[in-house]
Amino acid sequence: MAKAKKCDRDLSFPEVLPPQVSIHGQHIDNNWPRGLNGFLSYQSEPPEKVQVGFLSDIAICKNCRQEVLAISNRRYRYPFTNCINFGPRFTRIKDLSFDRIHQLSMCSECQREYDDSKERRFHNLTNAGLRCGPEIRILDGEGIEVTPNPATLLKQGFILAVKGLGGFHLAADARNDSVVSRLRCRKGREAKPFAVMARDLEIAHRYCEINSEEETWLTSPQAPIVILSRNLKELLPDKLIHPGLDTLGVMLPYTPLHYLLFDDEIELLIMTSANISDEPLITDNEEALQRLSGIADYFVVHDREIESPCDDSVLQVTSENTPQFFRRARGFSPQGIKLPVMTIPVLALGGDMKNTFCVTRDDQAFPSQHWGDLKYYKNLLNHREGILRFTRMLSVEPLVWAYDLHPGYQSTRWVMEQESLPKIGVQHHHAHLAAAMADNGLTGEVLGLICDGTGWGADGAIWGCEVLQGGYHGFKRRAHLKYVPLPGGEYTVKRPYRMSLVYLYEALGEKSLEVARNYLPDLGVEEMEVLVCQLQNSSRIILTSSCGRLVDAVSAFLGICTLNHYEGQAAAELEARALRGTQKRVYSYGLDEEEGVWIMKVQTLWQEVLEDLQRGTATEVLALSFHETLIEMWTEVLCRIRDETGINRVVLSGGVFHNRILLTGLLQKLKKNNMECYHHRQVPPGDGGISLGQALIASEVNG
Ligand code: FE
Repeated sequence: MAKAKKCDRDLSFPEVLPPQVSIHGQHIDNNWPRGLNGFLSYQSEPPEKVQVGFLSDIAICKNCRQEVLAISNRRYRYPFTNCINFGPRFTRIKDLSFDRIHQLSMCSECQREYDDSKERRFHNLTNAGLRCGPEIRILDGEGIEVTPNPATLLKQGFILAVKGLGGFHLAADARNDSVVSRLRCRKGREAKPFAVMARDLEIAHRYCEINSEEETWLTSPQAPIVILSRNLKELLPDKLIHPGLDTLGVMLPYTPLHYLLFDDEIELLIMTSANISDEPLITDNEEALQRLSGIADYFVVHDREIESPCDDSVLQVTSENTPQFFRRARGFSPQGIKLPVMTIPVLALGGDMKNTFCVTRDDQAFPSQHWGDLKYYKNLLNHREGILRFTRMLSVEPLVWAYDLHPGYQSTRWVMEQESLPKIGVQHHHAHLAAAMADNGLTGEVLGLICDGTGWGADGAIWGCEVLQGGYHGFKRRAHLKYVPLPGGEYTVKRPYRMSLVYLYEALGEKSLEVARNYLPDLGVEEMEVLVCQLQNSSRIILTSSCGRLVDAVSAFLGICTLNHYEGQAAAELEARALRGTQKRVYSYGLDEEEGVWIMKVQTLWQEVLEDLQRGTATEVLALSFHETLIEMWTEVLCRIRDETGINRVVLSGGVFHNRILLTGLLQKLKKNNMECYHHRQVPPGDGGISLGQALIASEVNG
């Protein structure tokens, strides 16, 4: 064989890459020329041999937007316009490799674009035009085609079910009180805020305060819903759209089809996932017509299949200008996350709530989109189908499966039935800690402050306000909020006023009954008697150190939110109230060491909150003071443990850190105390992020 000669051509990559192209590495082989005078393209290898990443969906690019909005263009108002730089990917791909062979045939004009290397639709596998691409139809509730365009129907006050990239949305004019109220009523959604789609950035600016980082995310190729502070001077039916909150989730049109929903008069639309309560997204035309009849008046459907349901991503921008996800889905999933260590192939199943699973391959983790709560059977089925899809497309055969220790979780029950599989149970808050480490590229040992609602503890209690010391290899529990009973479990989680009595009883004993009669109007006499009886004989009641339950209890006691219609409602409304506070104080708390574990005690806080309440202090001030006290207490306990262990790196994880006052305040305080702080940027701090942590732990323990 001839000896390879060093190539003297410049093989470096161009400085400006095409949009959506990223280079993860390069390898150069020196070979003799073989006498070919051009490139040849071959049929891809069978999918099982392909080991590539698969792409996420990308929002409409500037060029396509111009085409869709230009009357003279052949793609004017064509809803499936796309090009090599944008379009459906993840939700559309049936299998890898994604070859034209899987797609429709093209008309001559589209074929010309596809064949011309100077066109931005050169080899665009989803290329489509009016004559050859998918078609849209507007149907009434009976499935009969109608002629009015979607914007006209929306202006007339109708609710539309619109087939999007990853599932159906329900769309309605956000400025029309009666239609928003009708939508809430028909959907049976009492309080959970609706997201909106603004016609353009200018409209978004009118209704919300938007900084440059938030603007960057709104207009990014991922086009997520961004949680923004409302400009309350601009009128909206806000008590119907975002009751109890001063924030609004906003996105911009991200497909050409969305432009058909707007005109000069329609500027802001409610765009909410068209699923039935906690069930999966609806992706099929027939299913939409059946299941959404009675909710939607009209249906905007088309014949482009959705291969994988995928909800809109939701994020907020932190005070450090970093993104923080509530839901990492469309636009991001299934993008890989670079890990700080090499892994064995792991499938981590996540928890049951806000479920994601995660597959690892070498030094990358691939968290899935969100599947909702797995206690709903259809979500569980989608979760299993998603696992098959991910492992097939990524060509990964997991060597170990990781799961949460909660014995009641469907994911746990399912994996326990699979006898032949190597599997490892991971403690919930340990998974949070590892997720925050992986998210920040950390190895070694850290301290983790993990605050959330529910996680099965190693001692069978419900944990939720923990300081752990550890890494991927294991952990030690170094501090936690003092246990209180959780009588009634889930029943009490939905009724924060019951938690108020639990904490009052803990702090004031029998005197709490009189206080409860004065301050907890939702607590009936009979319910109070039963609850007190349970608290007096609490030895058989499950205990909890949950931060979520403490926050709920304070929110209800201040009369801010006494019932959780959606997860985290009481906490979100307490935060909104605190953000209006102009004064604050720090309540007293206790820190006691018991057998090497610091116990955080809040009985004195409750006594002082009651005194302030009796004095007539504004609830805004009380709410802000409560937040301030948590920040102070956590800083003190972390500093003490840092002094004991010499570990100066702290990761923050758990859904509580969606709270902007707590995250910002704690970061400032910890930095002042010279601690290195890390929080989530790539996966959510809540349970949507734990599969990443489970995967790292399983790989470390089994690798
Ligand atoms: Fe959690």
